[in-house]
Amino acid sequence: MKGLRADGTAIRIMAVDDSPISRKMIKKALEPEGFVIVGEAANGKEAVELYPTIQADVVTMDVTMPVMDGLDAASAIKNINSKQKIIMLSAMGDDDIIKDAKSRGIDDVCAKPFKPDEIIGKIIRILEN
Ligand SMILES: [Mg+2]
Repeated sequence: MKGLRADGTAIRIMAVDDSPISRKMIKKALEPEGFVIVGEAANGKEAVELYPTIQADVVTMDVTMPVMDGLDAASAIKNINSKQKIIMLSAMGDDDIIKDAKSRGIDDVCAKPFKPDEIIGKIIRILEN
C-alpha cells in the first residue's frame, strides 16, 4: 500500500481535471494503493476556491481547463501555500507549458495518459523532498 505512511495514515490527494474520465483514472490509479482523494475540482477556479477548505498532501493538476487553467490555478495555490506539492498532468502537445510549469514552482509533471506506477512514483518522490 504505497498510499499509506509508516504510521498508517493515508496520503491525501486533490484531483483537479475538467474531464470526469481523467479524474476517475486518477482515483483508479491511487485508491487501490490506499491514497485518499480528499477533493476534486473541474477547473482551476473551483480548485483555488476548494483548496483552503481541504488538506491535501499533493494536488494533481490538469493543464487545459475552462474558466481557469492549471498553470494559473497552480500559481494561485502556491501563493496560498508555497510548500504545497503540485504535480501537473499534461496531455500531448503541452510541451511549452511544461517549461512554464517549472518556472511557476510546480513540483513535477506527469504525461497523460499515465500508468498507475508512474504517478504513484512521482507522488512518493515529491513527498520525500
Ligand atoms: Mg483538461
